[in-house]
Amino acid sequence: LPSAILVGRPNVGKSALFNRLIRRREALVYNTLDDHVTRDIREGVAKLGDLRFKVLDSAGLEMVATSGSILDRTAGMTANVLARSHFAIFLTDARDGLQPLDLEVGKWLRKNAPGIRIVLVMNKSESLDEHSGSLTGVVAEAHSLGFGDPIPISAETGFGMVELYEALRPLLEEYMIQKMEEKCHQDENATKDVEAKLPLQLAIVGRPNVGKSTLLNALLQQERVLVGPEAGLTRDSVRTQFEFQGRTIYLVDTAGWLDRTKQERGLSSLSVMQARKNLMRAHVVALVLDGEEIAKAKSSMRHAEVVIARRAVEEGRGLVVVVNKMDLLRGRQNTKLYEKVIKAVLEEIQTLLPEVTGIPVVFVSALEGRGRTTIMKRVVEIYEKWCLRLPTARLNCWLRKVMSRHSWKDQAAQPKIKYFTQVKARPPTFVAFVSGSTELAGTEIRFFAKSLKEDFNLGGIPIRITQRCVP
Ligand code: GDP
Repeated sequence: LPSAILVGRPNVGKSALFNRLIRRREALVYNTLDDHVTRDIREGVAKLGDLRFKVLDSAGLEMVATSGSILDRTAGMTANVLARSHFAIFLTDARDGLQPLDLEVGKWLRKNAPGIRIVLVMNKSESLDEHSGSLTGVVAEAHSLGFGDPIPISAETGFGMVELYEALRPLLEEYMIQKMEEKCHQDENATKDVEAKLPLQLAIVGRPNVGKSTLLNALLQQERVLVGPEAGLTRDSVRTQFEFQGRTIYLVDTAGWLDRTKQERGLSSLSVMQARKNLMRAHVVALVLDGEEIAKAKSSMRHAEVVIARRAVEEGRGLVVVVNKMDLLRGRQNTKLYEKVIKAVLEEIQTLLPEVTGIPVVFVSALEGRGRTTIMKRVVEIYEKWCLRLPTARLNCWLRKVMSRHSWKDQAAQPKIKYFTQVKARPPTFVAFVSGSTELAGTEIRFFAKSLKEDFNLGGIPIRITQRCVP
């Protein structure tokens, strides 16, 4: 539970407020020794509406003014108590008006509790008549303390408790969200550690002669090959494996296309089928295109390539597009061509796969070994996003933020989502629990998918959202 400390000069009614907040339940009293004087600090659980927090009554610390300085006498103890508090309730007395000692308490709080949120309350306000202007006067006066407008309350009668509740609620919510987020970060790091150890299955696909074998050789040359390609009984049993930045990468069915593509012209139906099969087994698909061909052609992607890219997305795989043979487009006379290819590919991918914004596109020369590391970095990034698990608590903090920052046409137009949960990773799959029987519209689902991608940096991977109606 978060803790609140009650502070104020003597007789402002700290104990009265303490008793009201804990509803006069048993308070835990403990002693602090300071200056050889034993002082009591009472501690209890405050209940205010549905709010629960620990409350510390610093009455025992008595900011006695006898010596003229409250700071010396209480310095030791307060450091200790303040360190345990998440916010402070600063009390003044409406009947006395602002006293010099209130100013001292204010100064002292500012100095000793820099990170702590302070709620200013003005006790004993029950008898002040708002219309006579006296309340307005003392409110304005207390405002000069620099902690905002005071909340007029009466610890004796219970006047102003609703307003106190309204003031404390956002602070407590903020605290809970912060705690949840801290916990979520821990959970997330823990899951990341586990999944980071799993090998990444990469399929390099593309039409014949785009340079897949060359690319593979370049990759294997650079990286530490753990197991070389070896002939198995079937093509499927052949697996090449290497290590990239401490991570094991399995290449899916390299043999399958390595020998077949040599004889094939165009992508036959067989190899499309094979590519599909590979997609199913891959976590990330690297689709290789031929940059030189694109420079000559009208459209950057051939039909078969579009089919594969779409398929990869539909199957929920991570996709990285590799445009090869860029070395052929270098040189002064080709600068325009080089740029044209980059522009054409980026635009076409965006148009063809609008649902997955941010698919990485890497421009390389496998022959020269340029861009190998970039490809692998993008592959790993996509894989990590693909494996991401968002804890329910974090998702729901997010949901609240999204709902409040978006301006819905009217209250009725706002989707009635109770909560979000991620049911699966690889790829991230979410369920929205909708209250009542009004399902989310397609546009709403797309809105949440877009927000998820933006807020959790999930661009470039397919994410899925389904919905369930709950009463
Ligand atoms: P695969 O059928 O996709 O495996 O293609 P290959 O790797 O066998 O390459 C087909 C042809 O393109 C070969 O003659 C390669 O030397 C050539 N090639 C591959 N990558 C590049 C590149 O980056 N630049 C150039 N200029 N040629 C390349």
